[in-house]
Amino acid sequence: MPKGPRLLGVPRLALVSDVYSASGWSLPPARGPEVERLHLEIFGLSMTTRAASPDHFYWSPSHSTDSLPSFFSKTVWRQNQQLPPPLSGYKSVWFSGATPKHAFMVWLTARNRLPARDRLNYWGLNISPFCLLCNDEDESTGHLYFNCGYTIALWTSIFAPSHIT
Ligand SMILES: [Zn+2]
Repeated sequence: MPKGPRLLGVPRLALVSDVYSASGWSLPPARGPEVERLHLEIFGLSMTTRAASPDHFYWSPSHSTDSLPSFFSKTVWRQNQQLPPPLSGYKSVWFSGATPKHAFMVWLTARNRLPARDRLNYWGLNISPFCLLCNDEDESTGHLYFNCGYTIALWTSIFAPSHIT
């Protein structure tokens, strides 16, 4: 059994409010030098009473010394993730006038997250690795955008009238 409650004269399950009020500490007299030192430490604490200011709970992420007045799931999620650094040029994809569907596809492409057949095979799907559009080479994001004969013909038809290369 711990000797602290017996020496201090405060029950083990007592609350701070049982021994502290607006008028100060109400501890039993010290019965030895060990308890006298403890009293000096306790009496030196600056306390606020419940009546002076109500208790508040603050969220304090471990990486920050600042405590936030509110809990944000975004903060928790970011703290628990190993996020890669943002890609340069992300503002050229995500801007206020962007078409969300197009921005999303460009973002997936930039992150190499398009479900091209190379990735589908990597995930264990038993499908042909050949490109769905040209059926000449293995399908990957790079192939779909830059090496596929079908895509090259499409790029050519798009940029030929304006002579953009
Ligand atoms: Zn192809």
